[in-house]
Amino acid sequence: MYYLCEDCGFKHNVDGMLARCPYCGGNLTIYNEFPEFSVENLPGIWRYRRYFPKLFKNIFSLGEGRTPLIRSFRLKSYFKLKNLFIKDETRNPTGSFIDRGTSILISIAESFGVKRFYCEARGNLAASISAYSNLIKVKTYTRLIEPIDRGKLYQILLYGGEIVSDVVAKPFYPVFPTDPFLVEGYKTISYELVEDHIGRIDAIIVPMGSGSLLFSIWKGFKELVEMNVIDNLPRIYGVQESVCAPIVRSFHGKRISKGHRGIAIEINDPNPGRMKEAINAVKDTNGDMVEVNSMQIIEGIKLLARFEGILVEPAGAASIAALKILLDRGEIDFDENIVVMATGAGLKGPKTLLKILSGYKGFRRNSMKINILKILADKSMHPYSVWKKLSEKGFTISKTAIYQHLNDLERLGYVSSKFSDGRKIFYLTSKGLSLIKSTK
Ligand SMILES: [Zn+2]
Repeated sequence: MYYLCEDCGFKHNVDGMLARCPYCGGNLTIYNEFPEFSVENLPGIWRYRRYFPKLFKNIFSLGEGRTPLIRSFRLKSYFKLKNLFIKDETRNPTGSFIDRGTSILISIAESFGVKRFYCEARGNLAASISAYSNLIKVKTYTRLIEPIDRGKLYQILLYGGEIVSDVVAKPFYPVFPTDPFLVEGYKTISYELVEDHIGRIDAIIVPMGSGSLLFSIWKGFKELVEMNVIDNLPRIYGVQESVCAPIVRSFHGKRISKGHRGIAIEINDPNPGRMKEAINAVKDTNGDMVEVNSMQIIEGIKLLARFEGILVEPAGAASIAALKILLDRGEIDFDENIVVMATGAGLKGPKTLLKILSGYKGFRRNSMKINILKILADKSMHPYSVWKKLSEKGFTISKTAIYQHLNDLERLGYVSSKFSDGRKIFYLTSKGLSLIKSTK
């Protein structure tokens, strides 16, 4: 069993606790060769104890793992699929898949006498570490990566975690989303999927923030292939929200935009820590990566809630949104065995739920679409004139992008078009007018 730095190739026996590469600060992954697959009679993820790094003396658990794999009937029919399974990770103790990794990390930290945790993270990771660190009487200090869902902040505080504005004094164990021990916990998702005996899994769809979850799922399947439990890796599909999709864009060789905040804030990570590993994992399985927009994510939340009774946070619904796109494109067949990951619980973000209920349109107040609508509110005009007006206002945008925005807006019913003197003229609808009013 050895650590391997994914960046510089540093290799070292797993005899101590390393969060990052001691030479270059890169991501460490723990690799091992396992002779055969056999499980132990222990609850949750600990059933797979022999495939974890042997650095713990005691097990500290809150009951993570062994989450239900829901065989969908209603959503399956809606999409006209033969088989659709939903891995419901919202059922973990703190409401996200992260608990799987935290249980291992905490158990190992106890045997090394870790005195405190310092966490730089988005909500779910900080909430999980804050909850579990109590098991070993260690406090968690979190510097939050904003924005954070309210529910997650309340979780952190009620579990007894502390929010700090700067790095705490040493010694501490630093927790990052890329942590090698977290990966070891997340990989149990693949183990469980295979143990659920649903036949060969053809495709699995995974939301990506740091890319750690997707990489871990790949690692789990890879180990199962090496142990001859399964013959092939399923095709893995990664999904991000289009406003902040650096991994997807990099995968497709596109320019990475700065990274805005969308609705799926848990995965709106402009600097994904395991980007390279996630890309390699998807390539290795002949999968693909897709972007979904906020409206598609909201549709995914509604579908999961109404058809399956699973209330997920936006990050967790990205996989359903992606499923629709992949089916439309023919990348996933209707008769395949498909698994979608429902990663985190919806009640963590009450503000988001309210936004959805009040008809959130996914447009920021100063977004390009809103600006286009405002221009059309003054006067109906040809796309070229819209472009000219925007340029006068100091916006840099291509003419092609204007057409794209106008087509989107027309599809959503905010503008309409007619031909006048052989030219297409766009004008604002009453729906468009009320949208502008609501964003003022
Ligand atoms: Zn290194």
